[in-house]
Amino acid sequence: MRKERVPAIDASPDDPEIIEHYHAHIYYDPASSRDRAARLRERVAAMFPDATLGRWHDELVGPHLQSMYQIAFPCTLLASFLPWLMLNRDGLTILLHPGTGNPYLDHTDHAVWFGSVLPLRLEVLRDTRLTSASAS
Ligand code: ZN
Repeated sequence: MRKERVPAIDASPDDPEIIEHYHAHIYYDPASSRDRAARLRERVAAMFPDATLGRWHDELVGPHLQSMYQIAFPCTLLASFLPWLMLNRDGLTILLHPGTGNPYLDHTDHAVWFGSVLPLRLEVLRDTRLTSASAS
């Protein structure tokens, strides 16, 4: 039996301490699932007053290719909000991502999807690993 090769550690792992907050993006179809998105929104507002509900975006905005609204919440809410969302998303697709200061990584490598993975317009997102040296 061959011995497993231990991968070389060439960089220190990211420390979750860099996470400043989280976003949950709640996707819906204006024609068929806006009512479910509204019900979820009302429940979140009632149960999680520390979460900040963003505006409805029926029209596409930022990297998002489907209608959605955003729920911003502090790290302290993760342990209670995440399981609640798992049980109550009502079939809606949700993107959960941390805010680490690198929008590109937060919406790709760092992202967690509920339901399905939707395409995003990643070209509109800033990757601070690439842009920090060459501000224009
Ligand atoms: Zn976001």
